[in-house]
Amino acid sequence: MTDGARPATAPGGSPREAATHCPYCALQCGMTLRETGGRVEVLPRDFPTNRGGLCQKGWTAAELLDHPDRLTTPLVRDAGTGQLRPASWAEAMERVAGGVRAVQDRHGRDAVAVFGGGGLTNEKAYALGKFARVALRTRHVDYNGRWCMSSAAAAGNRAFGVDRGLPFPLADLGRARTLLMVGANPAETMPPLMRHVADQQAAGGTLIVVDPRATATARQADLHLQPVPGTDLALANALLHIALTEGYVDRAYVAERTTGFDEVRRTVAGYWPAEVERLTGVPVADLEATARALATAGGAIILTARGAEQHAKGVDTVTAFINLALALGLPGRPGSGYGCLTGQGNGQGGREHGQKADQLPGYRSITDPAARAHVAGVWGVSADELPGPGVPAYQLLDSLGTPAGPKALLVFGSNPVVSAPRATRVEGRLRDLDLLVVADLVRSETAELADVVLPTAQWAEEDGTMTNLEGRVLRRRAVRTPPPGVRTDLAIIADLADRLGAKAGFGDDPAEVFGELRRASAGGVADYAGVSYDRIDATGGVFWPCPDPAAPDTPRLFADAFPTPDGRARFRAVDHRPAAEEVCAEYPLRLTTGRVLAQYQSGAQTRRVPALRRAAPRAFVELHPDLAARLGVGDGEDVRVTSRRGELRAPARLTPTIRPDTVFAPFHWGGAARANSVTNDAVDPVSGMPEFKICAVRVERAQP
Ligand code: SF4
Repeated sequence: MTDGARPATAPGGSPREAATHCPYCALQCGMTLRETGGRVEVLPRDFPTNRGGLCQKGWTAAELLDHPDRLTTPLVRDAGTGQLRPASWAEAMERVAGGVRAVQDRHGRDAVAVFGGGGLTNEKAYALGKFARVALRTRHVDYNGRWCMSSAAAAGNRAFGVDRGLPFPLADLGRARTLLMVGANPAETMPPLMRHVADQQAAGGTLIVVDPRATATARQADLHLQPVPGTDLALANALLHIALTEGYVDRAYVAERTTGFDEVRRTVAGYWPAEVERLTGVPVADLEATARALATAGGAIILTARGAEQHAKGVDTVTAFINLALALGLPGRPGSGYGCLTGQGNGQGGREHGQKADQLPGYRSITDPAARAHVAGVWGVSADELPGPGVPAYQLLDSLGTPAGPKALLVFGSNPVVSAPRATRVEGRLRDLDLLVVADLVRSETAELADVVLPTAQWAEEDGTMTNLEGRVLRRRAVRTPPPGVRTDLAIIADLADRLGAKAGFGDDPAEVFGELRRASAGGVADYAGVSYDRIDATGGVFWPCPDPAAPDTPRLFADAFPTPDGRARFRAVDHRPAAEEVCAEYPLRLTTGRVLAQYQSGAQTRRVPALRRAAPRAFVELHPDLAARLGVGDGEDVRVTSRRGELRAPARLTPTIRPDTVFAPFHWGGAARANSVTNDAVDPVSGMPEFKICAVRVERAQP
């Protein structure tokens, strides 16, 4: 298959049309950008993930290109007025380089940190990690993917020896006889994915959704399990308990393809369905029906997403569902398996190429001497010069400006003032820095705090690659050049590296950077050595691992073996434990946070698009009508949601689709409605993922 790409640059040098992908979520819907008279238009493009569909965010993505809020000149904080003012690139870059040098001279190399994003292209994520390690020579680099997929990533590595969101093409969903979605709401977060679910249901398949809210996805399900937030792990163990007692376990698969089942069997023996019903609120009959549907339908896929993962026990919760999948013999079989629905546009690739605190390109461990030697060789430096592992994102942000923490931070493609947990505290840490640099396309809430803001190119203005939720490497193609005064992230990184006297070379040509990434990833778990721009152009996308340009890529993993030392998947016994913060007399309700259809992540981009603002103009707090009546709150009236860490204020939205003991708030807004003023900064001990999905709160009618 070819992806129908026409060259981004037409004969004569004038950009006209480009086959590319949406700038937002991990579905990476195919779209064509057409530039006519300076205006860029989005057209849907048939691609295996979206089949010609786009959601409202994709349709309107080009509206940011010429938005009046767009930054087209660097900004620096004026020493006299304390305000951000326009500056030349020379002044801004020297302010950054001089500031970095001053901080490192005074406090050491680790006093400067880098914070990246899951929306950056593979080339940028790679360059950013390399920049941190060889230009700054700091161990402190991490990214906002910790907020998103890190628990599923850790669980996947632990069980399968590899972390690829979906180990099969998305179209396999349509072949699954039973589809179990846990904490996933693609009908709102990635609507075109539901075309595959529609196929599955039209073919007589069963859709089961686990979610504390009756979401748009849950309402389409044949069976909706609505557990108390924070109890998914117990629910999964109960399903495996039932599978054992009903004789559903695939004993031949377990014996031949896995290790560690005995301990799991002993652990889940204690998860009696009746007790789990009391804990989760899910009726025994529904648990039994779910186990039966998964085991007897003749093919099942289990998917987790943020609802299961964003917990202080997120890794173990995902592990419990992987245990269930393994016991039923699902991974590696056609129309079956376990997968994670990755969230951010390049959440997958972003964690493979070095912007994570403990990783080098190719998903290599930074503590592995052989991996260090290989990557150092590609970079032309000594392995001894590479720093060791840093700390996960929240730990990094929470240490900023403290005596032992970094004093300077460079942020690329992230807005932690809105997206970080316990955001008021993070905001305070950012204010304590000696130097905060933000590279972004608009004045985000984080940019407003910066000493230097660097305006960056947008997705339609630069080439590169993204790796979607299937592990398929895709081409992002420019349809026009950035406006005057704007630079690409790669150009900014290369300029800074030069000013800091980096020994290794840094380029701003995405194709050249990708060529180097291929060499750096060669031999790693996420091996891109056989992926090239030409190959993607010819095929539409290349699934990693792909070590050989002449050999096929890998759409499906695990058919014959798992990439573990003995080729077997690893069971691991996991036990339910309470949320980091349980309800009490003072904070008697649970808050869970999430997304809405018309907004994306911290909202820095989508809140500026008129059509999206009209569709989702403001934050809200979802309450069950019974709870609202008890609190004396009417629909649309402002409520105050208070936790031990802070409060948010937003209008109440009454709906019977939520449990009466739980309230919901979307996290896309800043200011008084910022959901993350309230969220808990407890993190998973393995992945560093914060517990966004549950904290104890009090809800009151706000005084006018
Ligand atoms: S589903 Fe995701 S990738 Fe597709 S158009 Fe919407 S935001 Fe873009």
